[in-house]
Amino acid sequence: METKVVKFGGSSLADAGQLRKAADIVRAEPERRFVVASAPGKRFSGDMKVTDMLYSCYDTAARGESFDDAFAAIEERFNGIIRELELDMSLESEFAGIKNAFAHRAGRDYAASRGEYLNSIILAKLLGFEFIDPAGFIRFDEQGAFDLEATRERLVPRLEKCENAVIPGFYGSMPNDTIKTFSRGGSDITGSIVANAVNAVIYENWTDVSGFMIADPRVVDHPRNITTITYRELRELAYMGAGVLHEDAIFPVRKAGIPINIRNTNRPEDKGTLIVSDTAETSRYTITGIAGKKGFSVIQIEKDMMNSEVGFGKNVLRALEKNNMCFEHMPSGIDTMSIIVNSDALVGKEKAVLDEINFRCHPDKMEIENNLALIAVVGRSMRKARGTAGRLFSALAHARVNVKMIDQGSSELNIIIGVEEEDFETAIRAIYDMFVLTEC
Ligand code: ASP
Repeated sequence: METKVVKFGGSSLADAGQLRKAADIVRAEPERRFVVASAPGKRFSGDMKVTDMLYSCYDTAARGESFDDAFAAIEERFNGIIRELELDMSLESEFAGIKNAFAHRAGRDYAASRGEYLNSIILAKLLGFEFIDPAGFIRFDEQGAFDLEATRERLVPRLEKCENAVIPGFYGSMPNDTIKTFSRGGSDITGSIVANAVNAVIYENWTDVSGFMIADPRVVDHPRNITTITYRELRELAYMGAGVLHEDAIFPVRKAGIPINIRNTNRPEDKGTLIVSDTAETSRYTITGIAGKKGFSVIQIEKDMMNSEVGFGKNVLRALEKNNMCFEHMPSGIDTMSIIVNSDALVGKEKAVLDEINFRCHPDKMEIENNLALIAVVGRSMRKARGTAGRLFSALAHARVNVKMIDQGSSELNIIIGVEEEDFETAIRAIYDMFVLTEC
């Protein structure tokens, strides 16, 4: 039988009703044998995620203050779920052990990991699946980096022995067996690791949206969904802030050639977005997605005969390196160069950076311009479509948006444009209208 790995995010497991929906989804297909669970997320706006409750409770304990009330509130989140699901189980001894570990300063990572740990015990009971603690199987190295080889060595044989299991997301252990978590949202990574270990046909990532949208719904009204996207396209969009999935979750499944399907727990009938390494299928529209970010600055540099000066670019970049800064893009002309950097990283360093470039490169003119927004128009089908750039710039011209920078990689997978921050939303809407609404 083919195996599917399913991961449920915090909003999909926030309360008893959500756990029931998740269990129905798992039961609907016997191939859904391995389930990775997050801690209970927010039930309503203003609610607190259990992970945040755990961090805050642990910090109180670590300060030596009383944490009884904060701990009781966490216990109640789980007891409420157990009561409502009418499960014949108790987590009392688990709570006692965890509380004792808090009092003995077991560490923030240990504390945060208990949300997924306890929620997975409940979900395993509800489904009648085995519970597997990832602590002994998902391994980090001495430097705290995730170790895929060491993990596979332990996890593959363990899961081979198992018919069905629920595995907590978000954590594993260090070589000295202390608990270590991934960064926030890291249950996505656990799902990907488990899919790699069982060589799943698909990694289903269940969340509260039906996949990726072509544009940000806060900017474009009811944008359409992306049905299929490649890992490379996703990387381009994620860089510009289009997030649903933890970025590090891609590597273990990509390595094994396993597609990811983003699905909506509240609308299981939706097909969601399929993320694949390659596809012969062209996208429905010329573009796959649009994403963008505000908050960039441009360092404009001018110097006569720049193009023939050997090492000019290297010296500019060394000036940035000296100030511990990276750059995002570097479009250049014959005698001009623009270095696009994150404005936050430049704050307080403007003079030092300009002085350093001056010292190393002796430009004729230099200035910093702020309030730049970058927009990436991404699509594997752009390569074959003639006139894409023409249509893009005509849409922007009609919307009276001034384009300040253009950067198209030779892969023709994306075109990045820079516009004034105040034109950001107008530009995205104009691009969406041109490439999606007129192509419907
Ligand atoms: N519970 C963790 C967090 O809130 C991890 C996760 O849900 O993926 O970040």
